Amino acid sequence: MIASVIVDVKSKNVNRPFSYIVPPHLTQVIEKGMRVKVPFGSREVLGFVVDVTMDDESQYQLKPISDILDIMPSLTEELLDLAKEMSIDSCSFLINCISCMIPQAIKAKYEKKIVKLRDNDSINHLFKSKDYIAFSKIKKEDYGIIKKAIKEKIVDLRYDIKDKVNIKYETYLSLNNVSKVSGKKQQLIIDYLKSSGPISKRTLINDLQVTNSTIKTLIDKGIINEEKKEIFRNPYDNISENAIKHQLNSDQQKAYDIIIDSIIKQNNDIFLLHGITGSGKTEVYLNVIEYTISLGKEAILLVPEISLTPQIVSQFKSRFGSLVAVLHSGLSLGEKYDEWRKIRNQEVKIVVGARSAIFAPLTNIGIIIIDEEHETTYKQDEMPKYHAIEIAKKRAKYYQATIVLGSATPSLESYARAIKNVYKLLELPHRATNTQLPHTTIVNMAEEFKKGNLSIISEVLHQAINERLARKEQIILLLNRRGYDNFLMCRNCGYTVTCVNCDISLTYHKDHNRLKCHYCGYEQKAITECPKCKSHYLKGFGYGTQKVEEELIKTFPLARIIRMDNDTTTNKGDHEKILNIFKSKQADILLGTQMIAKGLDFADVTLVGVLSADTVLKLPDFRASEKTFQLLTQVSGRAGRHKDQSEVIIQTYNPNHYSIKFASQNDYRAFFKQEMKIRQLAKYSPYYYLTQIVTTCEDFQETFKEANKIVNYLKEQLSSECIILGPVVPQIKRINKLYSTQIIIKYKIEPNLDKVLESIMLTYQDHQVNVIIDRYPYFVI
Ligand code: ADP
Ligand code: ZN
Ligand code: ZN
Repeated sequence: MIASVIVDVKSKNVNRPFSYIVPPHLTQVIEKGMRVKVPFGSREVLGFVVDVTMDDESQYQLKPISDILDIMPSLTEELLDLAKEMSIDSCSFLINCISCMIPQAIKAKYEKKIVKLRDNDSINHLFKSKDYIAFSKIKKEDYGIIKKAIKEKIVDLRYDIKDKVNIKYETYLSLNNVSKVSGKKQQLIIDYLKSSGPISKRTLINDLQVTNSTIKTLIDKGIINEEKKEIFRNPYDNISENAIKHQLNSDQQKAYDIIIDSIIKQNNDIFLLHGITGSGKTEVYLNVIEYTISLGKEAILLVPEISLTPQIVSQFKSRFGSLVAVLHSGLSLGEKYDEWRKIRNQEVKIVVGARSAIFAPLTNIGIIIIDEEHETTYKQDEMPKYHAIEIAKKRAKYYQATIVLGSATPSLESYARAIKNVYKLLELPHRATNTQLPHTTIVNMAEEFKKGNLSIISEVLHQAINERLARKEQIILLLNRRGYDNFLMCRNCGYTVTCVNCDISLTYHKDHNRLKCHYCGYEQKAITECPKCKSHYLKGFGYGTQKVEEELIKTFPLARIIRMDNDTTTNKGDHEKILNIFKSKQADILLGTQMIAKGLDFADVTLVGVLSADTVLKLPDFRASEKTFQLLTQVSGRAGRHKDQSEVIIQTYNPNHYSIKFASQNDYRAFFKQEMKIRQLAKYSPYYYLTQIVTTCEDFQETFKEANKIVNYLKEQLSSECIILGPVVPQIKRINKLYSTQIIIKYKIEPNLDKVLESIMLTYQDHQVNVIIDRYPYFVI
């Protein structure tokens, strides 16, 4: 028997499986998807079994597998095949794709043990009196017994992750036998346990104010028992919110019926649920998922970023309780691993999570829902550069499952597909709460300036804020730029302080008196003297959230203001804290960057102010207008969700720009039409597929030279219909010490492209110039 193994070594010569002999004691146990230890060169490395074949071993000079690291495979066959496809699609190594499907915890150092769950003749002799044995102590000839016992749930394989993660235990106390005791405190404990039943030691000590030694005396006397129990870290333990179950309105019901029908028929449909902000998409998701699990099937719900959308998670938790696992990057390694194990052990039916939750090891998926499908967070920016929607399509196909893409502002690509009937369009055109959409005013900031108002807050907005404060209603203000000043400039000679690693000016952060680079993280103490001309006339220009906060405090001295941006949310749980303060009305104004634009539902918000609609519009990206439209629509959608007569005020220097105008009119269709015309003229997505090739190197000449070579090669290899642009140098020439160039390939049908890209990837694998290929590019200049 021979196993093909992908080894955990990321280099050009090893991006293919290697064959190993399966030693006799492993032939009964080995399976695809298992992690194994194999000799590789002079060392032993981790590998994944991708195939097992019966073959005559003697004709090859093969080494045997040293050991297995799983008893049950870490990857299902479906996921393994997906990884293979993904590796081709995303121009990245198979090992990278496999790695992003499994939790960090099992890629790290670990110590495995087999825990006995109940007595059974088949395994008792292995455990003797103990309730667990270290995996390394199990004799190889016993692997078969253990595997069978795991399947029958007699024992379980658990991992103790050294250093990185520990499985958490808590000590529980219970009454063993009731006998007379002398001490008052001791009697108190006994009485307590009599009524409480088994309880954690921590709680008991807390409630009774007794000491450890009193407890120990009772344990020694055999009166009470002590037992360690494994506890799952549950980051959403304290969710008490009771979600109201709404009767679906007619629009919701219609969408629901059509989706359900598709699930029952296993049509493998993709729906685009275009519902305006506040139209009650979440309620549709909840009901669809409820139905799916009643069929015995499983569901995945992807949300852009969980820390920013705590409300949707709590709704799912309160509706489905322990049937839900939550996966996202904000969890600790241990928490993630615990959630993953619950999924792998088939203890949950629903997985809610950010991008990587699309790889949840479910085995009977009925529905995949992707909320806010237009969000860029669904695209992974590191290798492997995959898009969660594309992965969802592959998994849904495998299970004949249904996909629902939901958004108030679908991506142009998705809406275009819906119009062509590739996706099926479902619409929720009204607010579920029957409130009116907010009224929107556009303020031309150039006029403000002419009037002599130099503040970042226009007169109209100023007045509107005052009205809300007087009525004790709440206000959300958006400014998409953190820090204090945008940059610091010498008024004498014009010098600006730039980053040592990037070609970009540093942003002044007043709270710590530091200058920071928002691209590479470099920071330094703020300067008071110009390094060039020694003048002290340094002045900050532009506005960041910190400066606006300061200005708000001065202008509205009685208002309670809370700020949410990357600087105020550095610790785990900070998002929730800020949102809770706002929700419980301990603050009047929530000021923040785009992280406040998504998914929040606060009943008393009746005013949303966008301080500058131009920050996104100015981005050097062909999607700048689309992103502006999305951001404005989303943030406007936070207003008046439960109250009429709410208002949105958008400040801009481009009051006539179509993305701002159509966003203010809530007219997605009009925006779509206009933007499609522009995309067609400029030959961009969705009219053309795009692939981006970025070259980076510390040496500018090298990176440009190699980029040119690549362009020539592409022109040689690809058809004449294919448009190849570049290499161009981006506006910010150097980031993190690296110069970069960009090449764009625009194409409609290019059967040769996969091969061409693969050969480029291999050519530059160990090259001084790094080449990154992106098949779903999101930042295109
Ligand atoms: P979306 O995700 O589409 O922006 P939500 O799902 O957050 O909208 O719903 C907006 C509000 O409408 C929520 O407060 C929700 O509780 C409420 N809602 C949803 N469906 C109904 C319904 N059928 N009847 C009344 N209220 C509803
Ligand atoms: Zn100067
Ligand atoms: Zn930098």
